[in-house]
Amino acid sequence: MQIEKNRVVTIDYTLKGPDGAVIDTSVGRQPLPYLHGAGNLINGLEKALEGKTAGEKVVVTVQPEEGYGVRDETLTQSAPKSAFQSPDIAVGQQFRADSPTGQKVFTVTKIEGETVTVDGNHPLAGVPLNFEVDVKEVRAATQEELAHGHVHGPGGHHH
Ligand code: ZN
Repeated sequence: MQIEKNRVVTIDYTLKGPDGAVIDTSVGRQPLPYLHGAGNLINGLEKALEGKTAGEKVVVTVQPEEGYGVRDETLTQSAPKSAFQSPDIAVGQQFRADSPTGQKVFTVTKIEGETVTVDGNHPLAGVPLNFEVDVKEVRAATQEELAHGHVHGPGGHHH
């Protein structure tokens, strides 16, 4: 069975950044089931998997435009420490805040003296993504899965 819209696909994947360091992998954990064509995966990866069958291996570099987007430098902002609720704010902390394009998760990226710099870009925005994917299984989605827009059962949603 080929991978196409409304099929449930189970993959093992490894994601590496431009420097070859592993960012994320399912190997050694549970393979990832997803509903193809429902926006469960980033666009560039779904495109690369289209038409493949179980047993095939896909190696693809997804550019930011089809991954987590290009960086928006207007989402990098500086503010005085006093503007934050927490007195012990630290690099790496995340919080939700409004931006001109809706609510975003901001990450504290730098603290210099009393000035805090935050970044509302996705951590992988602007990063080319190197995927190695093993297609493990392809099956038809159930009516319920199609209605919900995600996979049920092992590795999927339970409710
Ligand atoms: Zn569901």
